[in-house]
Amino acid sequence: MGIKVGISACLLGEQVRYNGGHKRSRYLQDVLSKYFDYTPLCPEMGIGLGVPRQPIRLITTSGNNETGIEAALSDDNDVRFTQQLKDYAKQQATQLSDASGYIFMQKSPSCGYTRVKLYHENGNPLEVSQGIYAAELDRLLPLMPKEEAGRLSDAMIRENFITRVMAYHDWQNNVAYQLTPQALLDFHVRYKYLLMAHHIQSYQSLGKMLSNLKAKPLGEIAMDYITEFMGALKHIANRKKNTNVLQHLQGYLKNDLDKDEKQEMLDLVNQYRTGLVPIVVPLTLLNHHIKKHTDDDNYLRKQKYLNPHPYELGLRNAI
Ligand code: SF4
Repeated sequence: MGIKVGISACLLGEQVRYNGGHKRSRYLQDVLSKYFDYTPLCPEMGIGLGVPRQPIRLITTSGNNETGIEAALSDDNDVRFTQQLKDYAKQQATQLSDASGYIFMQKSPSCGYTRVKLYHENGNPLEVSQGIYAAELDRLLPLMPKEEAGRLSDAMIRENFITRVMAYHDWQNNVAYQLTPQALLDFHVRYKYLLMAHHIQSYQSLGKMLSNLKAKPLGEIAMDYITEFMGALKHIANRKKNTNVLQHLQGYLKNDLDKDEKQEMLDLVNQYRTGLVPIVVPLTLLNHHIKKHTDDDNYLRKQKYLNPHPYELGLRNAI
């Protein structure tokens, strides 16, 4: 069974758009479905709007003010669906509490997660906002990683999102499900270098947070931990930060590699740093040396940084 992930139903080819069409994504349906067990949802169908239906849009009376944003029929401001969409998000949040991620269709006044067009009641376009359903789901399930399908065509954003889904799934299954001090500490050990690659400040502060597990009830510490952890992973691991981590990891092998092997490793890290090769190149050699020179339960082998998502997805060939 794959990892449970919510998704806008139109992205899987369901003909649920206002015009009876869909927005099928081959990558999501043919590639990621090998790992993700999708829960397809269409909030507009869910609140009883049929197909075809009149399109809706986001409107506000008070400038770009979150609280004043409403979903209404594009040609009749008085017919509104805001509360129904929020209620639908509440219902779905319960069945999605064990999901590890959500992929939204972009630009939709219901599902859009980042840049949905917002209009003044008088019809003038204002700035951008979040769809009503997506914003409410974000409020109710703040830890769950979320992304828009359109943004996943960017290799860095795609790799970042799938890393977050996998890490959150690990947390749900191996820490939250049966919380113990050891489970929390083991999780932190696994993610040390991944954290360092994404956000070095959180790598430091989360280590400190776990240094005294008696400071507060364990449940509170775990919640503080995972909240900062998921926020940290949202930062993109760029070449500079990855180079730093690769150098740290290589340092563990300094007594195991001969002079030529060390030079080869250094050269590949340098080629990655300067953009000549993707990160998979130095990482493949590093993984090879770690396997050759360490035992199964070695600290390095536990590092999720080395394999944060299925190798077959090739996510690190493109970054
Ligand atoms: S974007 Fe959301 S509301 Fe619109 S058709 Fe797709 S699933 Fe339904």
